[in-house]
Amino acid sequence: MQFQYRKIVFLTGAGISAESGLSLFRGKNGLWNNRNPEEVATAEALLQRRSDVLDFYNGLRHDMAEAKPNAAHLAISRLQQGYSGEVYILTQNMDTLHEKAGSENVYHIHGQINKIRCSHCHNVWETWNDITPDMPCPFCRAEKSLRPDIVFFGEEIMFTSVAEDLLRCADLFVAVGTSGEIPPASRFVWEAWKNGAKTLAFNLEPPANSVCFDRLVLGKADETLPEFIKNQFMTV
Ligand SMILES: [Zn+2]
Repeated sequence: MQFQYRKIVFLTGAGISAESGLSLFRGKNGLWNNRNPEEVATAEALLQRRSDVLDFYNGLRHDMAEAKPNAAHLAISRLQQGYSGEVYILTQNMDTLHEKAGSENVYHIHGQINKIRCSHCHNVWETWNDITPDMPCPFCRAEKSLRPDIVFFGEEIMFTSVAEDLLRCADLFVAVGTSGEIPPASRFVWEAWKNGAKTLAFNLEPPANSVCFDRLVLGKADETLPEFIKNQFMTV
């Protein structure tokens, strides 16, 4: 593999998982078109309609458990395994398709659907099972304290300092399937660019922050990204 960049940082969003059959959260057929985000993705909603909100995420967890990684996830994983530089993934996705593709160094800045957190004792653990409204915490026995370990609207993203460190010293920043609309991830490209990284975006349509990218590749990520990685890194 050709060595060109010391540190490559990917930022992946819903668009990379769309070809694996997972609904986009935003966009024409997005999940939010059926549900108002405020009904299911805020701490207040969980408090007021616990059963409904948990059911919504139980459904999402089922879908995400079944989903398989596509060619875009696999291409990033192949690059990680064969490249002599460092390759990191910041993802806005709650699914675990990068991990299923064999990737390491994956940071879920909006949390992970297969993790549960207790708001009382703050333990976090992995499971693909449902969270039921009356299930007590297995650690502290608190009731109605369990929630998906994901970032609701209005909450801080996870891995902020990891992201800052990565963006400070990345020399290639690649956004894949992100709308460029949701802060703070939409500002990551600025951070990377400001620090001297080359910036690329792979998306179906120009992202809202497309002005920040050195190069924009339009199309389905499972077609455009493997092609790019092959041409850029795998040719002698
Ligand atoms: Zn607990």
